[in-house]
Amino acid sequence: MTTIIDGKQVAKQVNQATQAEVSKLVERGVQPGIAVIIVGEDPASQIYVRNKNRKATKLGMHSIVRQLPATTTQAELLSIIADYNADDKIHGILVQSPLPKQINEPLVTLAIDPNKDVDGFHPTNVGKLITNYAGHYPIANTPRGIMTMLAAYDVDPAGKHAVVIGRSTIVGKPMAALLTNANATVTLAHSKTVDLKAVARTADILVVATGIAHLITGADIKPGATVIDVGMDRDANGKLVGDVDFESAQGVAGLITPVPGGVGPMTIATLMQTTVELAKWSDLGE
Ligand code: NAP
Repeated sequence: MTTIIDGKQVAKQVNQATQAEVSKLVERGVQPGIAVIIVGEDPASQIYVRNKNRKATKLGMHSIVRQLPATTTQAELLSIIADYNADDKIHGILVQSPLPKQINEPLVTLAIDPNKDVDGFHPTNVGKLITNYAGHYPIANTPRGIMTMLAAYDVDPAGKHAVVIGRSTIVGKPMAALLTNANATVTLAHSKTVDLKAVARTADILVVATGIAHLITGADIKPGATVIDVGMDRDANGKLVGDVDFESAQGVAGLITPVPGGVGPMTIATLMQTTVELAKWSDLGE
């Protein structure tokens, strides 16, 4: 029997807690605020940004979407980020990827005040994650949301072998760090990994974040493993599918996240959670 991890349900619980927290903060004179900057007209990004704005508003936050033309220069973008860095009403700043070619993305990440870095991508915050810093700091929302989901289903990474496939800065690497900090033994695999499927079969916890539809099938999964599918891919018919072939994984995996309805809803819920935390840490020193 495979348990399907209900990301929507866990996200709902996180959102309820966030909403309650926002109400408490507003009573104390602090309204958490998020600014999302989008450059250009990428259709998928437009949908993500709209969803983030809708959710933030629904939870009672101050939410700004700053739509900029695709021709925006690096200097113009950095100047807008500087304005939000100085704006007391804004606690979290997010610059939506992908960015047009003329924009240097690493410099954009560096320009965001680490205390307002709601994505957790600033090297200061990445460094805190790697060193397992004991204080407060924002963590990349997709991997953090996955850790919340694992906890909700009583999957304790301690002592387990976790295999993360994909080493991006936004998912794979922070995921590997979080699992390491949670005392898993971690293998970080990628496109140059030799015999990837044999490596995958050794995982008690398998996180797949490659963007390759159905890269992993049931035959590549250790019976009983927990499988987290981060992928948001399109199959030949244009249907949204994951990096894991859900059908063949059923009956092999112990637990598995579906696509859609798994990691996706958790990412946005965690983004909201992080925004509230940034507000609390900066304005109330908690
Ligand atoms: P990315 O930056 O393109 O990184 C992909 C990673 O996968 C790279 O490390 C790459 O290896 C590895 N890879 C590619 N092909 C591979 C193969 N055949 N075998 C093994 N490894 C392979 O992607 P990303 O931003 O991490 O996103 C990954 C997927 O997650 C995408 O489908 C994305 O849409 C989705 N995503 C979902 C959410 C969500 O909230 N649900 C959030 C973020 C991302 P190399 O480093 O060697 O090139």
